[in-house]
Amino acid sequence: MSTLYERAYVVTMDEAGAEHEDGWVLAGDDGRIEAVGGGEPPAAERRVDLGGALVTPGLVNTHHHLYQTLTRARAQQADLFTWLRELYPVWAGIDAEAEYAAARTGLAELALSGCTTVFDHHYVFPRGRDGLIEAEVQAARELGVRLIAARGSMDLGESDGGLPPDELVEEPDAILADTERLAALADDQIGIAVAPCSPFSVTRELMRRSAELARRLGLQLHTHLAETVEEEDYCRQLYGCRPVEYLEGVGWLEGDVWCAHCVHLSPGDVAAFAEHGVGVAHCPTSNLRLGAGVAPVRELLDAGVRVGLGVDGSASNERGDLGLEVKQALLVARGRGGAEALTARDALGLATAGGARVLGRDDLGSLEPGKRADVAVWSLDGLELGGAADPVAGLVFSGPHRVDRLVVGGEEVVRDGHLVRAEEDEIAREHRRQAERFAP
Ligand SMILES: [Zn+2]
Repeated sequence: MSTLYERAYVVTMDEAGAEHEDGWVLAGDDGRIEAVGGGEPPAAERRVDLGGALVTPGLVNTHHHLYQTLTRARAQQADLFTWLRELYPVWAGIDAEAEYAAARTGLAELALSGCTTVFDHHYVFPRGRDGLIEAEVQAARELGVRLIAARGSMDLGESDGGLPPDELVEEPDAILADTERLAALADDQIGIAVAPCSPFSVTRELMRRSAELARRLGLQLHTHLAETVEEEDYCRQLYGCRPVEYLEGVGWLEGDVWCAHCVHLSPGDVAAFAEHGVGVAHCPTSNLRLGAGVAPVRELLDAGVRVGLGVDGSASNERGDLGLEVKQALLVARGRGGAEALTARDALGLATAGGARVLGRDDLGSLEPGKRADVAVWSLDGLELGGAADPVAGLVFSGPHRVDRLVVGGEEVVRDGHLVRAEEDEIAREHRRQAERFAP
């Protein structure tokens, strides 16, 4: 059945930046957008009057660790390495039941913040605990959001000079075989990516072999990179080069790669990312929380680098709200480069079309015929948006907001600010029960 969403301010985020004041979006029964426009709407089997609300593409989260909702507000004054050393042993308790509860919470939070596509980077696989990726896939299917689940990995333990404890690292052969097995889970709603964790927890051999596997299977590649100055020192000690040189050395300076953070990039690094098409998941709140610094987003955009936003895991950004990251990205860019560094539309663009480009998805990120019908509807009636004549700037500057309605592939996932297919209270209750197992 085709559905017409009408009487709205529609922000398409297409190449031309088209916006329709008296706008509508027509979703076809194949879960894709049939038409978008302003003025007289076309005929449809079902019509939904949005009463003057703001419509944007569904937001795209390009970096997260859903399991970390179980361990919020820990290591409160720690930098990255201290924070990791404190949390690795706690995370070693993860199993499928806890992962499922964590994923439901993280995905629900993100959906209620307007997010239709979530990339999750899971890299903690304690030996003998199966079904972790399957648990988050199940949670996404139940809630109705898109999930790109990464089979992350760590194979460089403490005794070999790595940061994670030896009990949390795996053998490359087992990692790659499991990744290939999980690739079969992919369909219209679920994607799989290949994501060795970071330079300080993964061997060069695993980086190279992961890239070979991903390219053979046609999957995207992801890792953490250049997050802190300590990581750069670590790279020099262990590999004798800087993080981006390390990336080049393992065959990862390519257009099927995106990296989280990229806070500490030289002008030469930015140029290399632009030349080779490497994307960036900018996670400003997490970077501030861990005192890591601020990524050079204006410079990356000016160079033509693909940039999206990520909330990062809830142990380093306790709030899984992508709208908050939109505002945060705008604020930190301006803190770094002045009041003209990023506009409200630039910031929203990072979370929509930018995120889709980073994930290598040309079917997401904007409202155009043929794209997936992934739509966020924002009420403009609340206290916090009164007096904002420009609804886009109002949404970004006064964010974050709970989304009023969220549509994924033409199906409603949120209506009147509540999940359609699950009970928020039940998710929170079950999550608290699981989180108690990880309590200090
Ligand atoms: Zn991360």
